[in-house]
Amino acid sequence: MRRGGTRRHRPTGRTVPTEPTLDADSPATGRIAPAIAGGTHVGVVRRVNQDAFGLFEDAKREETLLVVADGLGGHRGGEVASRLAVDLLGRNFSLGDGDPPTRLVQAIESANADILRHANRERTLRGMGTTVVCLLLGPNGRAHVAHVGDSRLYRLRDGSIEPITEDHSLVATLVRQGVISSEEARTDPRRNQILRALGVRNDVEVDVAPLEPRPGDTYLLCSDGLHGLVDDDAIHALVHSANDLDAAVADLIDAAKRAGGTDNVTCVLARLPGSARPPAGHPDASAGAGAVRGLLDRPESE
Ligand code: CA
Repeated sequence: MRRGGTRRHRPTGRTVPTEPTLDADSPATGRIAPAIAGGTHVGVVRRVNQDAFGLFEDAKREETLLVVADGLGGHRGGEVASRLAVDLLGRNFSLGDGDPPTRLVQAIESANADILRHANRERTLRGMGTTVVCLLLGPNGRAHVAHVGDSRLYRLRDGSIEPITEDHSLVATLVRQGVISSEEARTDPRRNQILRALGVRNDVEVDVAPLEPRPGDTYLLCSDGLHGLVDDDAIHALVHSANDLDAAVADLIDAAKRAGGTDNVTCVLARLPGSARPPAGHPDASAGAGAVRGLLDRPESE
C-alpha cells in the first residue's frame, strides 16, 4: 500500500477546518477529565487534507475516545476513508459489551468492513484506506491504545517522550530487522508504504494494548505528517515549552510546516490531571472535571 507521496500539489496555504467531532459534553460524573486539544493542517505541499481526528465521550461508561486517521487512495478516497473511520469509531466504540480492548477491536473491525463496503460500492473510492490510532481513557485510571498503520501514540512523562505504538510500515519493519537505521528510514523512498490499513481487506489485524497512565502524563496521537518530519526530541521540547495544549498543537503543526510540510499533519494531545505536569500557575493546572480544551473552543464543534 502506497500512500500519497507521488503526486505533488501546488501549495495553497489553505487551512483545513479541524472538524472536531464531539458527541457529548464531558460527563458530569465527578470524573476528572483530561485536558484535550487537537488540530489538523493540509501542510504546504498538498491540496487536500486526507487526515481526520475526533474526540468522543461516553458519559455512561465514563470513557473518552481520541482518534487520528490518515487516509490513503487517490482522487477523494483518502479523505473519505479517514473521515469515515473517525465517525464510525466514534459511533461504534460505546456499542457492544465486553471489556474496553474487546470493544475497541470490534469497533475497528466493524469500521474496516464499512469502509471496504463504501470502496466497493463507488468506483471513484476504490482502493481507499486509512490508518487509525485510538486512545481510550476510561474510569479508574484505565487506558488502552489500538492502532492500524503508522499513525502513532506517544507518551510524554518525566521529561521524556516515548513512542507507544509500533508502525505497521515497511521501513519500521526494516528498522526492527536491523536492515536500515531509524535515521535512514526518515529519508527512505519506501517510507510511504504501510503494511496494514482499514478498508483494504476483509480482515484487519489490530494491535491493542493496555496503558498504565499516571497523573500528569501527556499523550500525543499524530499522523506521519508530524512524526515523519519532526523528530521525537523536538516534539517533546515543543509540547513541554508551550503555555497550554492549544499552543502545543499549533507549535507542532508549525514545526511540521517549517520542516517542509510535505504531508498533512494532525496532532491530538491529552493531558491527565495530576502533579507531574503542569506546574502550579500553568494554564492547564486548572483542568478539572469537564475541562476539554481546544476542541470545545472551535466553532466547528457545534
Ligand atoms: Ca500522512
